[in-house]
Amino acid sequence: MSSIPSDHKYAHELKIATLAVKRASILTKSLGDSISVTRTSGSQIKDDKSPVTVGDYASQALINHALKLNFPQDEIVGEEDSDSLKDGSEEANRLSSKILEILEDVQQKTVNWKSDIGELKDLESVYTSIDLGNSEGGSKGRFWALDPIDGTKGFLRGDQFAVCLALIEDGQVVLGVIGCPNLAEKVVSNTNMTGTKGGLYSAVKGLGAYYTPLFDTNEFVPLAKQEPIKMTQETSPSKLVVLEGVEKGHSSHSTQSQIKAHLGFSEETVQSQTINLDSQAKYCVLAKGSADIYLRLPISDTYREKIWDHAAGNVLITESGGGVCDIEGKELNFGNGRYLHSKGVIAANKAVLGRVISSVKAVVNK
Ligand code: AMP
Ligand code: MG
Repeated sequence: MSSIPSDHKYAHELKIATLAVKRASILTKSLGDSISVTRTSGSQIKDDKSPVTVGDYASQALINHALKLNFPQDEIVGEEDSDSLKDGSEEANRLSSKILEILEDVQQKTVNWKSDIGELKDLESVYTSIDLGNSEGGSKGRFWALDPIDGTKGFLRGDQFAVCLALIEDGQVVLGVIGCPNLAEKVVSNTNMTGTKGGLYSAVKGLGAYYTPLFDTNEFVPLAKQEPIKMTQETSPSKLVVLEGVEKGHSSHSTQSQIKAHLGFSEETVQSQTINLDSQAKYCVLAKGSADIYLRLPISDTYREKIWDHAAGNVLITESGGGVCDIEGKELNFGNGRYLHSKGVIAANKAVLGRVISSVKAVVNK
């Protein structure tokens, strides 16, 4: 879509967000791959979560640093803080030096980005950068929402995870960039995923949603040179494809099954019409038109979703022609602090969203 002006309102924000997400994606991808190697060789200690911990902190540090360098006035709502890294324990020191080591490695690999997004050279700056993510958000002005590794369970399994960054203005997401290091270009089913692995998904309010390979080039690719993506307009129950999480503790798979039945899915094909993915990769697959509906029904009445788990995905869906709401059919409000005050998330193509909301209400209120 060559109609995108290169000097659009968020051009600088998009470039910086993209480079930062790409650098964090390179870092987390190589960490994830190294876990896979130890997993297959059988030497991985089963419950060792330190690779994901190190990756989370390093990703947040480098992205916050890039944002601070370019947009010093902007606040950041980030998932992590550095407290447990600074307690002087042997474990904290071990994690800290590992973080510095992997940052040095990725900065070396992307050395030509130094003038745009800077570099972190010492632990004090790493801790300071991580803690820039302490904003409370809110309904006025602009801030960034960051999930440095979304889908940590998927990351540890060698499945899907995502680096997710969004810009929020007066409670509305205006820009989102998601790096999915393990997501294949074409996702057909749980067992059929083909094409280039690693996708970068971006959306800017008013300019549409876009895909480009994540690891093809070390350059920033402007939107005009990326592939515009669009949601489907599918409504037929025999053709609809539903996305859900993998983790049964994050959304109610049984409620989701009832909703699919209410929508008219047949028992014989419902499984092949369901794709399970960790992280905001679900929003990416939906925006690209490889699925039609995303269901995230709460398992508890009290859980509140965090804004960094949905902000970037939200604008990706609205800009690719879909809609997102809570289980009551209300739009998500990103101006309420670090949490959404609503319950659950439903996203779908515009043609079917109304029916999905009706089915959700019918099942939930039963
Ligand atoms: P997913 O990969 O879609 O399962 O979502 C991963 C996200 O789920 C994580 O980033 C967590 O913040 C979030 N999460 C953790 N516990 C819950 C819960 N009980 N309900 C919904 N989401 C959760
Ligand atoms: Mg998350």
